Amino acid sequence: MIERANKLGVETVVIPSISQQAWKTTIEVSESFKLPYALGLHPVFIDQHQPQHLCELDELLTTYKPSAVGEIGLDFFNRQLDREKQMAYFDKQLIIAKRHALPAIIHCRKAHDECLSALRETPIPGGIIHAFNGSIQQAEKYIELGFLLGFGGMLTYERSVKLRALAKQIPLRYITLETDAPDMVVENHRGERNSPEYVPQIASALAEIKNITLAEVATATTTNVRKCLSLCKGLYENRPPNPI
Ligand SMILES: [Zn+2]
Repeated sequence: MIERANKLGVETVVIPSISQQAWKTTIEVSESFKLPYALGLHPVFIDQHQPQHLCELDELLTTYKPSAVGEIGLDFFNRQLDREKQMAYFDKQLIIAKRHALPAIIHCRKAHDECLSALRETPIPGGIIHAFNGSIQQAEKYIELGFLLGFGGMLTYERSVKLRALAKQIPLRYITLETDAPDMVVENHRGERNSPEYVPQIASALAEIKNITLAEVATATTTNVRKCLSLCKGLYENRPPNPI
C-alpha cells in the first residue's frame, strides 16, 4: 500500500496510534518502513486506557522518537464515552507533549470549545486538528495556537457543502491533507477501506475548491506538515520523485 501511494506521489505517511495495546505495532511498522508516527491514547478508546499507560507513554517518548503525541483529544459526539475521563486523559497527555516539546495530532468531535480551552491551559508546540469540521472562528483560534487543520476524504463529496466552504476560507498555509484510513474514504471508493493512495484525490478536490493548481496544493500541504511535525526531508530521499 505504501509503495503504491509513493508511486502516486504520496511520499510521507504519518501513522498515529490509538491505545497502549497498539504502540508496539505502530513503532515496529513505522520504523520498518521509515515512516513518522505518533503515540497516544485516543478518546474513542477511553475504556481501554489505564493510568499506567500515561507513565508508559512518557517513557516511550524518551526512548523512541515519534513525530507527535496522537491521536489524543475529545469525542463528545459519541455520548457513551465518559467525558470526565476523556478530559483527564487529554489534559495529562498535553502535559506529556509539552514536557517532550512535541506537537499533537488531535481528534476532536463536538468538543472544540473544550479542546481549545485545554490547549490554552497547556500550550504545546502546535500540531494537527485532524478531520477538522468546526467553525471558521474555531479554525482561527486553532491557527493562533499554532495548529494545522486536517482535511480528508469528506472533501471529495459534493454534499460536503459546509466542509468545502470551510476549506475555501482557511488559508492554504494552515491546511494539511490526511486519510484517517481505514475510515472516511473518498467518494469514488465509497464502502471500501480508505488508503493513503487516495490522498491525490483529496488534493485535487482542494485545488478545485480553492481554484488553484494541484501542484500548489501538493507543495504547500507537504511543506506545512513537514514544518509542523519537524519531518526530516532526508528520511524519504530514497523514495521515487513526486510526479505531481
Ligand atoms: Zn480521529
